[in-house]
Amino acid sequence: MKRIDFLKAFAVLPLMTTAMKLDALQKLTQPLGNTPRMPVLFLGHGSPMNAIEDNEFVHGWQQTGKTLPKPNAILCISAHWETNGTFVTAMERPKTIHDFGGFPQQLFDVEYPAPGSPQLAAETKSIITKTTIGLDDKWGLDHGAWSVIKHLYPVADVPVIQMSLDYRKPASYHYELAKELMALRNKGVLIIGSGNMVHNLGTIAWDKIKEPEYGYDWAIDANERLKRLILTNDHKQLINYQSLGREVALAAPSPDHFLPLIYALALKNENESISLFNDKLVMGSISMLSFKIS
Ligand code: ZN
Repeated sequence: MKRIDFLKAFAVLPLMTTAMKLDALQKLTQPLGNTPRMPVLFLGHGSPMNAIEDNEFVHGWQQTGKTLPKPNAILCISAHWETNGTFVTAMERPKTIHDFGGFPQQLFDVEYPAPGSPQLAAETKSIITKTTIGLDDKWGLDHGAWSVIKHLYPVADVPVIQMSLDYRKPASYHYELAKELMALRNKGVLIIGSGNMVHNLGTIAWDKIKEPEYGYDWAIDANERLKRLILTNDHKQLINYQSLGREVALAAPSPDHFLPLIYALALKNENESISLFNDKLVMGSISMLSFKIS
């Protein structure tokens, strides 16, 4: 390089840096661009071991991942982040949280280094009117998010934020809150609810651990009943799931794994359809049922 060219290049360097900084700043403050409407997913995540196993449920997530347009970003509502109030993760680099115990070291060694999206966090905060969304810089990605998202986007090149579940609020509140996220679907945001429709850890059939697809009668009944309500768009009954009788009460003894399903359903438009997959029970009392809305 001639000395004069070098000097010219050197002279524009600080300008470029400022321009890049401005660009980054604009990205943070400008709304996301419009895109065709993104699908919505509900994923039954089951055991954290699904993060590192190669099984039929993992194949189901991988197959579904291949049918999706590449999102600008992901917003995940995980069963494993309950808070007083509603928060979204707003850090640039969310850490991988290993929020479980008693699993092999191999699972604790998994890192899912997807970037965050302060831009999407800010936009989510700005479109929600039902409550004041807090911007969180401490959480990260819990296993409800990363154990499934890693099978959709294994190279971790799609930014991911999480939105927490306000444990003080009833299902009807969550349903209405979720509806306010609708506009994000037209901004290239893939919204994922990650929980389990039937999820009772207190009744896990440890004696049937070697029997794949074992389900208690009540779990099979609850799975079938809730599935029918999903496919007939009977959201009212699903929101009132706590008054659906003994089987459903056993299926959702606490709201954490059921509410992500409510978020996904709230985002369904009337003209959209639901494709179910991974519709199987495991360990007696966990339904892996997952679906795509598009
Ligand atoms: Zn879970």
